[in-house]
Amino acid sequence: MTMTMKQQAFTIDERFYKVQGIRKLTDETFSIRLPKGRFKFRTGQHISLGIHGDYQSREYSIYNGENDEFLEVLVKEVKEGYFSPKLSSLKPGSLVEVNGPFGKFRVDEKKIADHKFVFIASGTGIAPFRSMVRTYPELDYKVIHGVRYGNEAYDKHEYQKDRHVLCTTGDKTGEYHGRLTGYLKDSDFVDNTQFYLCGNSNMIFDALEILKEKGFERDQIHCEVYF
Ligand SMILES: Cc1cc2nc3c(=O)[nH]c(=O)nc-3n(C[C@H](O)[C@H](O)[C@H](O)COP(=O)(O)OP(=O)(O)OC[C@H]3O[C@@H](n4cnc5c(N)ncnc54)[C@H](O)[C@@H]3O)c2cc1C
Repeated sequence: MTMTMKQQAFTIDERFYKVQGIRKLTDETFSIRLPKGRFKFRTGQHISLGIHGDYQSREYSIYNGENDEFLEVLVKEVKEGYFSPKLSSLKPGSLVEVNGPFGKFRVDEKKIADHKFVFIASGTGIAPFRSMVRTYPELDYKVIHGVRYGNEAYDKHEYQKDRHVLCTTGDKTGEYHGRLTGYLKDSDFVDNTQFYLCGNSNMIFDALEILKEKGFERDQIHCEVYF
């Protein structure tokens, strides 16, 4: 009995992490850096974040690589949302509750040597792909990132120039002007491609349809739906 109580107290403490830093990427988007401690995850997974004293939590993809000495998440503040505005007022030293990691949105390591990886993201849906690219520098990848404005190309400088295509609908600062689904329709991909789709469900359904029309099998396509 005593052991169970001790163990429980230990586990609860372990879930609270002190915010190390906040990095502002745009007016609405920021990353939260947390200590990694003994936290283990596989790239592509997400965590559930809670705020000390609040009863709600939300999921966030892990934005850093497996070998980084910190944990990071990329958050867009949804102005009318409940939780993300609260995250936006966190400061270094604030306490957050971390649960996880969760999810099976993962790179199949056996395929790295002989497959191409196409990462298709809308908005903050790029988060798991930055983690994958940081974790596996040898990946033969291409990121197709759909956003409204060019300043939402989060950490674009970290990707190899010819492997990152920004699709912008609200200005012409991207490599492609228009929705990422338009870019997908116009593009050719080799047969041995693994597709990863992450972001809002409308984009994911449209992209799935396009890839199906291009003749790709469902088991080549992996999806993570944010909302
Ligand atoms: C597996 C998973 C991983 C996720 N990873 C991330 C992540 O890495 N970064 C991130 O910012 N969000 C991520 N989300 C979404 C996140 O969990 C929250 O839904 C989001 O922060 C909004 O919460 P909220 O309480 O402010 O909004 P709520 O009060 O819950 O309102 C939800 C509404 O906000 C909108 N919305 C939700 N997420 C977004 C978004 N990212 N961009 C624009 N509009 C949105 C939708 O219209 C939705 O109906 C993820 C969701 C899932 C399921």
